[in-house]
Amino acid sequence: MIGIWILAEHDGGNFALCSFELLGEARRLAQKLAGTVAALVLAGDDELPIDVLGHYGADRVYLIDDPRLHHYDPTVAVASITRLCRLHQPVLMLFPATTTGSDLAARLAVSQDWSLVPHCVNIQIRGDRIELVRPLAQRGIHGVFSASQSGPGIVTILPDTLGVERPERARRTMVERVTAVIPQHQDIEVCGFVAADPRTSDLGEAEIIVAAGRGVGSLDNMRLVEELATVIGGSVAGTRPVVDLGWLPHSRQVGQTGTSVRPRLYIACGISGAAQHVAGMRDAGTIVAVNTDRGAPIFDIADLGIVDDVTKVLPLLTQCCRALCRK
Ligand SMILES: Cc1cc2nc3c(=O)[nH]c(=O)nc-3n(C[C@H](O)[C@H](O)[C@H](O)COP(=O)(O)OP(=O)(O)OC[C@H]3O[C@@H](n4cnc5c(N)ncnc54)[C@H](O)[C@@H]3O)c2cc1C
Repeated sequence: MIGIWILAEHDGGNFALCSFELLGEARRLAQKLAGTVAALVLAGDDELPIDVLGHYGADRVYLIDDPRLHHYDPTVAVASITRLCRLHQPVLMLFPATTTGSDLAARLAVSQDWSLVPHCVNIQIRGDRIELVRPLAQRGIHGVFSASQSGPGIVTILPDTLGVERPERARRTMVERVTAVIPQHQDIEVCGFVAADPRTSDLGEAEIIVAAGRGVGSLDNMRLVEELATVIGGSVAGTRPVVDLGWLPHSRQVGQTGTSVRPRLYIACGISGAAQHVAGMRDAGTIVAVNTDRGAPIFDIADLGIVDDVTKVLPLLTQCCRALCRK
């Protein structure tokens, strides 16, 4: 049987939505290839609703449970997954294109000499090949890649691109507890943890986001966005043009080909509100938009709209918030 494995990410209590997306995709591929679906879970004494992985399509769950995996430990994770792979020989691994998923996929691909196609948005079976589609650096262009069906290979998939299938609650899964492999010699050791800087921390977890669009006008003006974010403890994000212009790295892009976010507050600065951007932020609690064009679509979803120039509004907002924070 062809084994298709996914990495099920979680926050220590619940599985991330992208895990269910990957399971749905793996199930679809397994049906076409007459294969089976397994979910890999790296857990560190976490209380996880493992059964739910079965509802979304996992035939089997490999639960690698060790306190060293409570926070991601790449050396232990790679060694443990490598041993499982040697035992069960999966053909295809689907990982989320998240910070952890991308890191782990790259390490496994190098250590096992497997092929890796990162940041995909679509997978199709074409004859005896697997066709993969992923965005390229050029605006509006996606690359189409073809990989052998016999693998082994790893594909990372951008979260929120495939959608989540309806769960089948009657579906059961087999859970196999696996002892973690602790390598004797570790090139890299995890030696501690620090609170993440909200300006660079994972956007998916941010409570407050100040997002820049092309209307911010210049790289120099980005400091206005950063200042406001710093004062209110927010993360900085942006639209695709802002990333294409080099004002922010791709990891800060919100939208269909970026990250999907659900902050309590989203301040959209000079953002038009194109569908591909809105797809990644419409679930924000409160949306504040600043735009010179009162007809901009962002105002259709904004709870509060300011029709004015960002270079005037942002310094004022920052000043007011700074004053409020002092009180
Ligand atoms: C396949 C595909 C995937 C895509 N994925 C994404 C994605 O993941 N994320 C994403 O963001 N986009 C994505 N896009 C691009 C998307 O279609 C839009 O082009 C993009 O979101 C527009 O970004 P923007 O709002 O920054 O720029 P624009 O659409 O150019 O809007 C700029 C806005 O700023 C306003 N403005 C101008 N000057 C000022 C000022 N001084 N003060 C205040 N407001 C001002 C303007 O009125 C305008 O509304 C994707 C496109 C495709 C085809």
